[in-house]
Amino acid sequence: MNFQNIFALLILVCLPFYAQMETQKASYNSAKIKTIVIDAGHGGKDCGSIGAVTQEKVVTLKIALLLGKYIKENMPDVKVIYTRTSDKFIPLFERAEIANRNQADVFISIHCNSLPAKKNNIKGTETYVMGLHSSEENLSVAKRENEVILLEDNYSKHYQGYNPNSPEAHIMLSMYRNAYLDQSILLAEKVEHQFKEKVKRISRGVKQAGFVVLKATAMPAVLVETGFLSNKEEEAYLNSEKGQAYLASAIYRAFREYKNIVEKSPKHTNLTERAITTSAIQKKEIYYKVLLSSSTIKLNTSTPAWKIVKGLETVQVKNGYQYLSEKCSNYKIALERQAFYRKNGFPDAGIIAFKANERISLAAAKEISGEK
Ligand SMILES: [Zn+2]
Repeated sequence: MNFQNIFALLILVCLPFYAQMETQKASYNSAKIKTIVIDAGHGGKDCGSIGAVTQEKVVTLKIALLLGKYIKENMPDVKVIYTRTSDKFIPLFERAEIANRNQADVFISIHCNSLPAKKNNIKGTETYVMGLHSSEENLSVAKRENEVILLEDNYSKHYQGYNPNSPEAHIMLSMYRNAYLDQSILLAEKVEHQFKEKVKRISRGVKQAGFVVLKATAMPAVLVETGFLSNKEEEAYLNSEKGQAYLASAIYRAFREYKNIVEKSPKHTNLTERAITTSAIQKKEIYYKVLLSSSTIKLNTSTPAWKIVKGLETVQVKNGYQYLSEKCSNYKIALERQAFYRKNGFPDAGIIAFKANERISLAAAKEISGEK
C-alpha cells in the first residue's frame, strides 16, 4: 500500500468516528454518570479464546452479568445496559453502536486473554485503552480481539475497509485519538489497582492498543483482559464462580471510584486538562539518568574510563558540562546503574529525573511514578 492510499484510508477510517465524537461531545456536559454499557466479549459462533476446558465467551458473559448486578444493587441511579445477556453473536460495530445510541457515559468490554502453548506460564490481568501499542504483545492482543469481524457478514462495509490482517490498518487504527483518553486511563488504572490490591491478581498494567470496539465508542471506554485462559491456574480461576465474582466485584469497585472522582470534578469536560497525577501517560514520560560527573571545562570522554558508559550524553549547563548515562525507565534500575558507575570510576555518581525530556526533581518524579 503506498502512502497516498494509506492517507486516504486514514481519512476514511477516522472521519465518521470523528464526526460522531463531535456530536457526542455536545451532549456530554453533565457530570453525572447515568448509563454504563457492559460488553461481554464474543458470543454465539464466536467463542473467543479457548482454554483446556473453557470458552472465553462463557466467562465474559458471567463476569459481565455479575458486574451489572452489583451496579444495579448498589447504584440505583445508574442505568445498566448489556450488549448481550445470552450466548449470541453481536458484531463489534453493533456493540459500540449500542453504547453510542444510549449515550452511555462509560463502556466496559470484558475479555479473557490467551497466548500460544509455549507461553502458557504467563498470567495476569491487563486493561486496555485506545492508543498506539508499545509492544508486539499488546498489538497481538488487539489483533486477536479485532479478528472477530472476519466472522461478520459485510465486515468491510461496517469498518470502512479496515482489514484486521493488514499491518498498516493496525497502525492507522491505533493513531486514532479518543477524546476521552484521560478518563479511560483513569478508569483502567482503577480496574488494575483493584485486581492487584483487592483480588490479589497479577496486574500486567494499563496498556494501549488499537481495538475496533473501543475506537467506535464515543465515551470513556476500556477493554479488560481478566486473565489468561492459556494458563492452567488462571483458567481454573476464571472458570470458578468465586473467581468470576471477585473479578466482577473488582471492576464494580473500580467503576464506583471512577464515578466518584468524575462526579466530584468541578467541570467534567475539563478532566482532560486537569492533572491526573498518577496517569499512566505521565508515568510513561518519567525516566532517570545517572549524573556521572560535572566539570567547568569540557572533558575528553574518549578515554578508556568512559568506555563503560552506555549512551553517554554531554550536556552544556550554566557553569560547565554534565555527563549523563543512558536512560533508565524506573528508579530501581537507576539505583542499580548508579551503584555500577560508582564502583567503576565515578564515585560521585548521582541520579537525576526527567519528565517528557525536561529535568524535574527526583521527589516530583517519584511522586508521579509512585516509586519509593
Ligand atoms: Zn476477547
